[in-house]
Parts: sequence; structure tokens; C-alpha cells
Amino acid sequence: MKITRIAAYQVDLPLHEGRYSWSGGKSVDVFDSTVVVVETDTGIMGCGECCPLGPAYLPAYAAGVRAGLKELAPSLLGLDPTRIDVLNRVMDAVMKGHPYVKSPVDIACWDILGQTAGLPVCELLGGRDGDDVVLYRAISQTSPGEMAASVRSYRKDGYRRFQLKVGGDPDTDIARIHEVALQLQPGDKLVADANTGWVLHEALRVVRAVRDVDVYIEQPCLTYEECRAVRERTDLPMVLDEVIDGLSPLMQAASDRAMEVVNLKISKLGGLTKARQVRDFCTSLGIAMTIEDTWGGDITTAAIAHLAHSTASDLRFSSTDFNSYVTRSIAIGAPQRHNGRMTATASPGLGVTPRWDELGSPVLDVH
Ligand code: MG
Repeated sequence: MKITRIAAYQVDLPLHEGRYSWSGGKSVDVFDSTVVVVETDTGIMGCGECCPLGPAYLPAYAAGVRAGLKELAPSLLGLDPTRIDVLNRVMDAVMKGHPYVKSPVDIACWDILGQTAGLPVCELLGGRDGDDVVLYRAISQTSPGEMAASVRSYRKDGYRRFQLKVGGDPDTDIARIHEVALQLQPGDKLVADANTGWVLHEALRVVRAVRDVDVYIEQPCLTYEECRAVRERTDLPMVLDEVIDGLSPLMQAASDRAMEVVNLKISKLGGLTKARQVRDFCTSLGIAMTIEDTWGGDITTAAIAHLAHSTASDLRFSSTDFNSYVTRSIAIGAPQRHNGRMTATASPGLGVTPRWDELGSPVLDVH
């Protein structure tokens, strides 16, 4: 089998809530997503998606996905998309870094491999474990009272995991955590995600003020060293996200016992192939994981579901259904949330079909 064409489509994904806000006053109103379609000489085609969380979250930006693909795609024509490790080595040889550019290509090739094998991607990634995947809801940063109301509202949709966007003024963040904690019921889990937004003295004030709350602290500061310094001064469970961008930092953090949970984002790591490698390392070491991506629509949600559903169920901390945050559906067959949970689809490949009328004309077409 050979790759004969790689096309990219740009889609805008508005939000039901209108705006998503997190640390440092950062926000996104409309997500800019890129859908990649890989065609082959057999007629089988696969799709992938990459949607950065704006340009200021990770070293990634929406137009960069398309610019990078323009450089990368010509080198991939003629390769066998089912030999995914070989394809990844070629991608890494012709373009250094830029994992988020490679991610949608890698996902599309897993979709092709699944269709070729007649198996859902989750079966190829290790096999479906359990009935479904527990989802978290990200609670956009607003006033403490509004965030508590948001948690009450999303619990009615079945969510039991809540990720509060903090990382702002420490006094307000302390109020946010306390006010939301009053809403919790037995079995709920609360994460306060600072998204690198606190400097060290602020982080230490917050963890001290909420020491009696049942809350996880996520990525309090910008650097790994600062996060470790917070960790040494608190007994609250710790989640690392932004600083775990590959296997090497994960190995360091695991060796230092720097966290109990890591957030694995598919595009941050460079696709399902590399996310699987990091996932399997965490599994061997007993580190729990949130399996997700930076953002996206139906195709990203399908890829997340397959990776999450094939992860050991006792190490699945949570996952996320980004397609429920956005007002627009870009593919048929994507997982849909049911009572705060989702399942990977049983169809071969990712199990999704792009809605071509929503994608419009390709912005990049290499053949
Ligand atoms: Mg995070």
C-alpha cells in the first residue's frame, strides 16, 4: 500500500460556552482545527486532526500545523501508511521537532491500518479494556461562584471529574478551589490546573491554604524544577502536564517520583504512535494517566477514545470528549458522551467519516 495524496482542511470550531479561559488571562473563542486526510493507492483513506489550544499554551499554533504539513507531506508520498513506525522515522528524519505537525498524519495512518486489518484502532493499540472511559470536564476560569455553578451544571450531564482552571491571582484561586469543593459528592474528583500560571511563592501559598481539601494540583509552575519544589512542600497528589512532552522528561519525573498522574496529549507527543510509547512506559511504572489532546472535534475525540480505551483501566485517571464542547460536528461516527463516559467505536479504524461539506475545499493538497 502506498500513500498517494495528503490533503489538509481548516475548520473553525466555536464553543457552546462562547469562550474557554485559563491561566494568565489566556482564552480562545473559536478553535482553529486542521483535519488531515491521507489517501492510498488501494482506495482506503484515513483521517486525523490537530487543534492547538491557541498559540500560547504549548509551542504549537494552528497555522503552524498547515505550514509544517506543507514541508512534510511531499516526503511521505509513496510510503506504506500501515508501516507506521517506519513512517514516523521518516517524519522525524525530514523534519526535526514539531510533533504536533506530525500527529494528524500519524493518526490518519492508524485509521488506515485499522481499516486494512478490519479492527478498531483500540484493538491495535493493545485491546479494549473495560466497558467505557471516564471523562473529566474542564471548568473555564471565571469567578469562584460561577465555577461552582458550572460544576453543578456539568454534574447533571454525568461528569464526576472536574478540572478547574486556576493559575490566576492566588487569593481568588484559593476561593475557587474552596467554593467548588463544597459542590463535590462522594466519588467526585477535583483537579486544580494552574497551567504553569503560578510563580513558586504563589503556588506554595495556594497548596498550603487548600491542604485540607481533597484536590489534585496540576502543573502549578512553568518549569519542572519549580513543580518539584511545590511537590516537596505539599502532600496533595500532583499532576504534571505541560512539562511532560516526551519520554525523556517522563523518565526523569518518574525517577524523581515527581507526580502521581500525567496528562498525555496526543499532539503534544507527536501522534498515537509516540503517545502509545509513553502510555506503555507509564503503565509499566504504575503512573496514572489522563488521556487527551490539546483540543479538537470529532476526529480528535475518536483518537482519544481509542487510546484511552486501550489503556489499563486501573491507570485511566480520566479522558475527555472535546466534541461535546464545540458547536460543530466534522465527522460521522465519533464517540458521544453518555453519563460522563464514552467508548471507542467498534468499527474498523477510527470509526469516523469526515463530513466533507463541513470541511470545504482543502487548504493543502499534495499528490
Ligand atoms: Mg493540564
